[in-house]
Amino acid sequence: MSQLTVACAICNQSLRADHCTPARALRPSLRAFCNSTRSTPLLDTDEICRPCSMRARSKQLTEQLLKERGQLSAIELEVTAKAALHEAVATNLEAKFMGSATRGQKLADAVARVGGSWGFVTAFMGALCAWLIINSLFLGSKAFDPYPYILLNLALSCVAALQAPIIMMSQNRVSARDRMQADHDFRINLKAELEIAGLHEKLDHLLHEQWESLITLQQAQLDLLAELSEKLPNGG
Ligand SMILES: [Zn+2]
Repeated sequence: MSQLTVACAICNQSLRADHCTPARALRPSLRAFCNSTRSTPLLDTDEICRPCSMRARSKQLTEQLLKERGQLSAIELEVTAKAALHEAVATNLEAKFMGSATRGQKLADAVARVGGSWGFVTAFMGALCAWLIINSLFLGSKAFDPYPYILLNLALSCVAALQAPIIMMSQNRVSARDRMQADHDFRINLKAELEIAGLHEKLDHLLHEQWESLITLQQAQLDLLAELSEKLPNGG
């Protein structure tokens, strides 16, 4: 079956009609933007190919944001491009974060996880009590660490000295993940904002068009009724 081909009004490429969008279906602001970049304005019957409309949409969103903010960050530029192409920006951040962790970082996370649990506190207290009881009550004069438990003090100091930097490492990773999450949330919010603004405009445009066609239809019906009533003998 032969496909109807049309020429894109912007790049002049011949494409299948179902790969193009009529200029009248463009949002008013996008159409105005396209017109501002051309010597002649787009006609209602003109067709625009998808790559051209995506490019125009991306440029228009960038200009709109530039007007609002004065300067755009790399994230804003990236989100604008993705919004124009209707690409998703949401990703599974946890998997990405854990996937990029080194073995040392994973170990620090595990130490912080175990060290910050009631299980560890209970086991540690149990070990301490056992050490004290064995050295004070059971071994007597053969105690390997008699009162005032100097060896135990040394062991505890070593554990504390090691645990603190390891937990700090893990905390730094948590902070980095929070920053990543905040960046990610900003991207999603910005894209949602742009998409919702576009949808609002599209809906207003559709309502306006429907309203106009409804009025035309109603006018045609009234004309038809007037014609019929004229044809009827003695006005009915
Ligand atoms: Zn084109």
